[in-house]
Amino acid sequence: MSVNRRVTDNGKNKRWTVDEVVKSQKSDGTVKSFRCKARKSRGVKRTYSYAVTTRDAVQRRRWTFYKAVMEGYLRVGLFGGTFNPIHLGHLRSAEEVRELFNLQRVIFIPSANPPHKQGKDIISPIHRMEMVHLAIEGNPGFSASDIEINRPGKSYSIETIDHISKIYGSDLTLFFIMGIDAFTEISTWKDYINLFSRCNFVVTTRPGYSLINLQTVLPADVAKDFSYLSEEDRFVHVSNFSLYFRDITHLDISSSVVRKKIKENRSTRYLLPEKVIEYIKGHGLYKDS
Ligand code: ATP
Repeated sequence: MSVNRRVTDNGKNKRWTVDEVVKSQKSDGTVKSFRCKARKSRGVKRTYSYAVTTRDAVQRRRWTFYKAVMEGYLRVGLFGGTFNPIHLGHLRSAEEVRELFNLQRVIFIPSANPPHKQGKDIISPIHRMEMVHLAIEGNPGFSASDIEINRPGKSYSIETIDHISKIYGSDLTLFFIMGIDAFTEISTWKDYINLFSRCNFVVTTRPGYSLINLQTVLPADVAKDFSYLSEEDRFVHVSNFSLYFRDITHLDISSSVVRKKIKENRSTRYLLPEKVIEYIKGHGLYKDS
């Protein structure tokens, strides 16, 4: 496999041309590691090797993005959430957005300490992260990042987007994905006025919420910065990033209903991936909350 593109290396803002990416595979066909031959624009040669087998959190996070950039996964969706626990509504939403926007990757980013869910029965981020890993297993279009879990304090999306943009800047086209229920609360998000000049946003439908008029949700000081392009069905921000509203399959599933069912010893089958159900049972989660 050989690609020739410019990538940004590890946040140091160096420009590299990637000449060759060599993948080694496990017997089941999944990627074990890859080596990447890259050279700096002025001719300095360098070879990178990254293993995907490591359990180390930092390595895994770096791997996600290196892999995305090096393999040419340039259109990337960021799907933030509490994922307490992750359910089929989340997964289907990510899959439909991935397909609609031709994204090479959707990265699930569980929040450590979500500012909007204080006081709710949120279990440890370690468990939530592990369940995300189990849920996305086998889908090469999905990965997970612990970027928010490793960041102390509250999990603000603008900081996550800035962090990712700072490292990979112009090499990635980012689409931040959220459900319409989250979008209706956007004016309570940190620095929401500047959020839309950071990346593209995709807002998906959810049962109980209809597609809304931008003016009814966004405060006037943000709505004025958008104009609607009807032929492409998108709102264009003055920054040139876009805001899309898309109707997806309505799956009436929420983590809170799932938690309630578990507490009441009721079935969660077909609401959660089987492996997540097993994990919850194995660790006795959500029983006492
Ligand atoms: P809770 O019921 O605990 O409030 P939740 O089911 O809304 O949780 P979150 O982890 O808060 O799940 O959601 C993360 C993101 O996924 C949000 O942007 C939310 O709008 C979206 N989302 C959650 N459930 C669905 C669903 N069934 N369909 C589409 N989007 C969803």
